[in-house]
Amino acid sequence: MSCTESSDIYWNYDNPSDWSKNFPCASGLCQSPIDINSIDTIPHMYPSFIFSSKYNSDKLFTLKNNGRQICTTVSKSIDEHKQNDLWFSGSGLPGVYHFQEFHIHWGQSNRHGSEHKINGHRFSGEAHFVHKNYDNGQIAVLAFFFSTVAADVVVDNNNEHHEWDKYAEVASRLTKIHDTTNCTFNLSKLMQIDDREFFRYMGSLTTPPCTEGIIWTVFSYEIPIKASSLDLLRQNIMRKVCRPVQPINGRTIFRNHHYSKIT
Ligand SMILES: [Zn+2]
Repeated sequence: MSCTESSDIYWNYDNPSDWSKNFPCASGLCQSPIDINSIDTIPHMYPSFIFSSKYNSDKLFTLKNNGRQICTTVSKSIDEHKQNDLWFSGSGLPGVYHFQEFHIHWGQSNRHGSEHKINGHRFSGEAHFVHKNYDNGQIAVLAFFFSTVAADVVVDNNNEHHEWDKYAEVASRLTKIHDTTNCTFNLSKLMQIDDREFFRYMGSLTTPPCTEGIIWTVFSYEIPIKASSLDLLRQNIMRKVCRPVQPINGRTIFRNHHYSKIT
């Protein structure tokens, strides 16, 4: 992230270690993503997330190929003055955080593609939902991992993963830079937040300018997506869209106290 942070300076995913030449923040001490070692995390009791009701409804979004990612924002063509009806609060974060955009990261195969790792494990991909507190400018990102499933696997009585397959099908048509399209999505189905376990730490944007001071919430739950959906994205758009993990440099990483799966 974040595809709303634009820069005229060229960069790509071929040599992320060179980003700091043009973007000094990229060599900072609090960069993202990181490899989260669960035994080194600090348990903490966080209150629940509170999401606005609009997360549960279908909304029209605009997807755009910006040359490095597919950036998905709320479509402005419908009702401009209601742009801010997607927000969350709670979970120990002060104030209200408004939805800005979401995008996903993937790799050259389904064996990797996530930006964060957990206990050295890479996932097939990772989704970032970027939110902003308009009172103080604070950015908070909600991150989710993908695990790929075979095309014929039916997930128990839910259709959440079909929402991501729909996304991949639509996004994969945006083969050229500046290609744009509109599509309806339900953010709750995409994020599948249901008091899931998560990690919390302070990090950075994972794309230039790699600005620090970003609040990360990394959910350990893996959202299923068809293997063929990630194939569509890497074959039609970009082969690799992920930054390697960065040094933790002694940062404290919290986990919500319900977390027990890996520990
Ligand atoms: Zn991202």
